[in-house]
Amino acid sequence: MTTARIDPHTHSTVSDGTDSPTGLVEAAAAARIDVLGVTDHDTTAGWADAVAAGERLGVTILRGMEVSTQHEGRSIHLLAYLFDPGHPGLLARTERARSSRLDRARMMVERIAVDFPITWEDVLRHVDDGTTVGRPHIADALVAAGHVPNRNAAFAPGGPCANRTKYYVPHYAPDVGEAIGLVREAGGVPVMAHPWAQRGRALTARALDEAIEAGLLGLEVDHLDHDDEARAGLRRLAERHDLLVTGSSDYHGTGKTNRLGDHLTDPGQLERIVAAGTLPLAGAGHRDAR
Ligand code: AMP
Ligand code: FE
Ligand code: FE
Ligand code: ZN
Repeated sequence: MTTARIDPHTHSTVSDGTDSPTGLVEAAAAARIDVLGVTDHDTTAGWADAVAAGERLGVTILRGMEVSTQHEGRSIHLLAYLFDPGHPGLLARTERARSSRLDRARMMVERIAVDFPITWEDVLRHVDDGTTVGRPHIADALVAAGHVPNRNAAFAPGGPCANRTKYYVPHYAPDVGEAIGLVREAGGVPVMAHPWAQRGRALTARALDEAIEAGLLGLEVDHLDHDDEARAGLRRLAERHDLLVTGSSDYHGTGKTNRLGDHLTDPGQLERIVAAGTLPLAGAGHRDAR
């Protein structure tokens, strides 16, 4: 028997991926993924279509979300799995983040347009109704206007979508400890996304302590943005604090170079997620899942 291929962190067009939720599952089936995590930023709007496509195409769906959080002003991404999507407290924070992201994107476009002429309407052409707006959508408008060749170039250091530039505007996000508490209250499984991805903006020891105190259950270790040293260090931390460990592609369609299945999660770790979550797996093999 071959081991199941489990890729628990990907994005669709309901946030900053470029495949529709259905297209994402089609791509996963083509990449021989058995269990796909659908984890759009601050929304669960892709779940229903992904589950329907999973039933049709033989892909099991791990329902999740990548929650925008912050610690002392640093942006921290938190994966949440198998939670009640109607939990009022969690829903209130993610809705506020989504609305703040919209205001913030408009402000960034005003600043960027001084040097790279684009309009808010140009950005909206790349955003479906109900999509969580992010800098990648601004990058799409910059690509369409011919200012940069692709999203990645827009995010290059000093580029119009990069961190720590005169164009950058932050958005509201709940404190990481508060968000973890809400995910647990909603019956979900909080796993820190790519904790040491951004040099200098990585999860600090203090933020990790707060996160563990608040009920963090896992760390994403195998990720394109972690080198071998970061992975080894994170694995040691996970052992010390008895946290589950995941690996994922963080696939965004054509928006990033990450390919589905680039990194995977061990079945035993998925079992830990399922055991701790309030929702079951869905899609293929889980037709009766509600
Ligand atoms: P935001 O959520 O608006 O702060 O934008 C951050 C998002 O931009 C992340 O979730 C990534 O998906 C995306 N991103 C970051 N760096 C890059 C890059 N180099 N190329 C493409 N997308 C990126
Ligand atoms: Fe993203
Ligand atoms: Fe992320
Ligand atoms: Zn992600």
